[in-house]
Amino acid sequence: MTVASRNSRPDVAVVDAPPLDFDVSAVRKQFPILHQEVNGHPLVYLDNAASAQRPQSVIDAVRHYDEHDHANVHRGVHTLSQRATDAFEHARERVRAFIGAREAREIIFTRGTTEAINLVANSYGARLQAGDEILVSQMEHHSNIVPWQLLCERTGAVLRPVPISSAGELDMDAYREMLGPKTRIVAMIHVSNAIGTINPVKEIVRLAREAGAMTLIDGAQAVPHLRVDVQDIGCDFYAFSGHKMYGPTGIGALYGRAELLEAMPPWQGGGEMILEVRFDGTRYAPLPAKFEAGTPNISGAIGLGAAVDFIESLTPEAIGAWEHELLEYATDLLGDIDGARVIGTAAEKAGALSFALEGIHPHDIGTILDSEGVAVRTGHHCAQPVMDFFQVPATSRASFATYNTHEDVDRLIEAIRVAQKVFG
Ligand code: PMP
Repeated sequence: MTVASRNSRPDVAVVDAPPLDFDVSAVRKQFPILHQEVNGHPLVYLDNAASAQRPQSVIDAVRHYDEHDHANVHRGVHTLSQRATDAFEHARERVRAFIGAREAREIIFTRGTTEAINLVANSYGARLQAGDEILVSQMEHHSNIVPWQLLCERTGAVLRPVPISSAGELDMDAYREMLGPKTRIVAMIHVSNAIGTINPVKEIVRLAREAGAMTLIDGAQAVPHLRVDVQDIGCDFYAFSGHKMYGPTGIGALYGRAELLEAMPPWQGGGEMILEVRFDGTRYAPLPAKFEAGTPNISGAIGLGAAVDFIESLTPEAIGAWEHELLEYATDLLGDIDGARVIGTAAEKAGALSFALEGIHPHDIGTILDSEGVAVRTGHHCAQPVMDFFQVPATSRASFATYNTHEDVDRLIEAIRVAQKVFG
C-alpha cells in the first residue's frame, strides 16, 4: 500500500489510505543531529533499530542533571543527592507508567536489554535443573539466546528454538507442541530487530502460563514502535533498552512481577543492594534496590525518563502508525527494484525492513548507501539463526523512527539504484 498524498513516485500505484495527520517536520525540528550533511548529502538516518537519535528534550534532561543536580543517589542527606535521587526515582515512575507496570519497584534499571536478560537467566535461572526446557524462537537476538545457553551449561537444562515460517512468523503450531511439563521458561522476542516481525506475545504468554512456564519478553524493538502494556501481555518479565527509544545508551530496564522478583536471589552483590552487611550474614535491600548493585547510571535513567515523555508526547500509537506507513511505502518501492528481495514478509511488522540485492554483498550496499548520505545497517543484526534460516550471510536493513519521512525512503531507493549501477 502506498499513500497518494505523499507519493513522490508517480509511476507507483497508489492506494486510497488517507494521509496521516502527523507533523513530521515538527518532530524533525526536535532532533538536532538530523540536520547535517554526510558525504555531501543531507543525512538520511535509517539505522534506528541499532540506535535511535535523541530529541533535544532528552539531551537537555541529561545536561540539566549534569550541570545542576549531579550527585550519588539514595545515600546523601545533602540537597544535590536528594535532587539526583528524586530525578532518578521520577524516571523509574515514568518507565513504570510507560509499560503499565503495577508498581515502581517492579522496574529494575539495567545497562540495557542484554543485562536485563542476563539478570533473569542468572537469578531466576538458578532454580533450573538438568532436563528442564527453555523455549526461545528462531528469530531471537543473540542476547536472548546466549544467556540461556550459558544457563544450560551451568544447569543441564535444554534450550529449544521454536521454528519460524518462510515469511518469518513464529510457527504457533510447533510452539504449542513443544510446550510441555518440562518447559520452565519461554523467552521470546516481541518485535524482531532483523526482519521486523511482530510476535503475538499475548497468546505466546497465555500458552506458556497454561503450561506452567515463566515468560520473558525481549521488548527492545517493541517499545519504540508499539504501545506496550505488560499487564495486558501478562508476562513475568519484559526487557528493553533506552537507546532504541530515543534515550541514552547504557541504560535500560527489566520489568518483573513483584512476587517473582521478591523470591529471586540477587545476581550481583555490592553497595546499594543491601540493608545490612555483617561477616556472619548480609540482608538484602527491598526491591528494586536488591537488583541494582553499585552506583547506577543516574543520568542515563533521567534521559530514559525524558525519552518516555518524548514518546508519550506523540503517543506510541501515532508513532507506530506513521512508521507503518513508511514501512509499507518502502516495501512497495523495493518490490519494484529488479533483483531486490525483502527478507521477512510477516503480516504484522514494525520498524525494520531487511533486504538483499542480487549480486551485491550487503557490506558493499551499506558502503555505497553511506556515500549517498543514507545510513542503514548491514550484517547479521546479532541474529545469526535468522540469517541461517533465510540462507543469507547478512542483510541490509533500513529501520524507521518517528522522524523519518517518505523523502527518506525515496533517497534510500535512489541510493540502492546507484549501488546497482556501480555493481551492475
Ligand atoms: N534484543 C533486541 C531485539 C535488540 O534489537 C537488541 C539490540 N540490537 C537487543 C536485544 C540488545 O540490546 P542492548 O544491546 O541494548 O542490550
